[in-house]
Amino acid sequence: MLTLQNFQPLAAIATTPTAAKTLQQLCQNGITLWVPESIEGIAGAKVYTGSLKSHVAEHWKTHQGLIFGLATGAVVRLIAPLLQHKSCDPAIVVVDETGKFVISLCSGHQGGADKLTQAIAQLLNATPVLTGAASTLGLPAVDILGIPFGWQRGEGNWTEVSAAIARSEPVQVIQEAGSTLWQSTVSFQKSSLSLEASLDTIPRIYITPLSEKGKALHPLPLTPHPSIHWHPRVLWLGIGCERGTSRELIESTIKHVCQDHQLAEQAIAGIATIDIKADEVGLVEMCRDRNFPLCTFPADILCSVTVPNPSKIVDAEVGTPSVAEAAALCAAKAQHLLVSKQIFRASTEFQGAVTVAIAQAEQEYTGRTGCLLLVGIGPGQLDQITPAAQAAVASADAVIGYSLYIDLIAPLLQPHQIIEALPITQERQRAQRAIALAQWGLTVAVVSSGDIGIYGMAGLVLEELQTQGWDGNTPKVEVFPGITAMQAAAARLGAPLMHDFCAISLSDLLTPWEVIEKRLHAAAMADFVTALYNPRSQTRIQQLTTAIEIFLQYRNPQTPVAVVRSVYRQDEQITLTTLEKLLDIPIDMLSTVLIGNQSTRTHGNWMITPRGYNTG
Ligand code: SAH
Repeated sequence: MLTLQNFQPLAAIATTPTAAKTLQQLCQNGITLWVPESIEGIAGAKVYTGSLKSHVAEHWKTHQGLIFGLATGAVVRLIAPLLQHKSCDPAIVVVDETGKFVISLCSGHQGGADKLTQAIAQLLNATPVLTGAASTLGLPAVDILGIPFGWQRGEGNWTEVSAAIARSEPVQVIQEAGSTLWQSTVSFQKSSLSLEASLDTIPRIYITPLSEKGKALHPLPLTPHPSIHWHPRVLWLGIGCERGTSRELIESTIKHVCQDHQLAEQAIAGIATIDIKADEVGLVEMCRDRNFPLCTFPADILCSVTVPNPSKIVDAEVGTPSVAEAAALCAAKAQHLLVSKQIFRASTEFQGAVTVAIAQAEQEYTGRTGCLLLVGIGPGQLDQITPAAQAAVASADAVIGYSLYIDLIAPLLQPHQIIEALPITQERQRAQRAIALAQWGLTVAVVSSGDIGIYGMAGLVLEELQTQGWDGNTPKVEVFPGITAMQAAAARLGAPLMHDFCAISLSDLLTPWEVIEKRLHAAAMADFVTALYNPRSQTRIQQLTTAIEIFLQYRNPQTPVAVVRSVYRQDEQITLTTLEKLLDIPIDMLSTVLIGNQSTRTHGNWMITPRGYNTG
């Protein structure tokens, strides 16, 4: 399941039958549930032998998160000897026996326990318990703000700076590279963070490709101050090398060039070179081990790039006057180099020769596989949203949707999430924006009311992906169903959809009216119970009148009809009428019209379509 994918591998451990049953619900979400031999009959669970202590120790290093169905005291004792540092410990989450509370116990920020807790609480329909200052006060959590964008944490006094923020002391942010999207998630007015440069010796958060040393060289401030460094991966290293150059020489070259120019190695996005070097062993091995993408370009592309230091010798050898400089510029999509080419020759120690040039990209490389969570949020009441859909929303880096729907799900949104509420008319832009963010590496939830696959955003997003030549896998896509307006309306009315039914949208914005008219005839003739979506807007009035005329050709004028407006919302209105009187009732775009079949009848405020063919 995509919702929990950023935490994999995940293991859950329960030692009592009740706790095992509670955690069993998580098995279908890619979590392995472990139980002792004494507990039997928990389908899907694995059995551990030996002591719980050694079992936990075994999983500690290999898992991103551990979920315990145990008393917190017992968990604290179990993990105490294993704890090292919040930057490397797995996320520890505790669920009480009956699944009422999910507690983020340890590694709340960096280990992701807070996010995992939110996701699990939603899956179990439990209350999440978060105790970190950032989560309770809605403060920016500086130690996670770069994670969606793949920024790397550099040097710094992380604890001190976080503590300053928790104490509401002023902290200055100096951003020189990377996305500024995170800024929308922070209330600069409410928190003590500031983007204004100041001479004060207050703690600083640098978002920069420069190393700590590089920043320290800046003239400001004069007195030492606690600082932390986030490094967006914006540096593309163009590399040319002799065949057979050792990996060690390449690595030491990179180290030297970065040091000489005060650049942080954490800010390296990846390596760029000519395509004939795609199999250069030293390069390939280094990229694999350091998680660098290796971008290669053919000679004719590299040829077309203007570089400061072209070489005739290189041109004669590989068919382009520049490899390192041209490749760096191509990969970074930049016009200018940050560091022009530097040549390092083999010493007695290492084999070969390496040329390096560096260009800085405008947009950072995230190194993450993005995904699109297409989420149906139901008719409008929080408890009508499936737990899976709630967990999907909670797990997203960014949430995109029409502003009314964003408002409806406000309680599910997390303080660190990027929220993009767009006006109702811009569905296509919404789809394109979501795809762009996901392709870049973010987990993006697109929300639509009702079911996202029924006159919703799922179609637009998938169509757009198809147009863009999507391979079907990257970015990943998962669709979360929701209760559609027709079902919600039916639930309020009793059982109007009890027999064959269909839905027809009267909106001819994206569909020719002739097609709609043909379907109206077919549905009316075939005696389907029919739900009319998008029945009437301020400018589209005639369509509903025509629809009723068509139905009257086939159905009794007394046929029960319901108009259900804003179902499951505060201003819900339900009106029962008949086909011939339908137009006396105010109907707008927030309404769904349900037309009964020839057997449908009303009883008090209820609308009932008989279940069997022989009745009515
Ligand atoms: N994806 C949505 C439908 C979007 S089309 C779903 O599955 O429900 C928009 C139309 O849906 C509206 O014009 C109205 O006909 C219907 N609709 C959506 N929400 C509604 C609600 N809460 N009450 C009544 N009708 C609703």
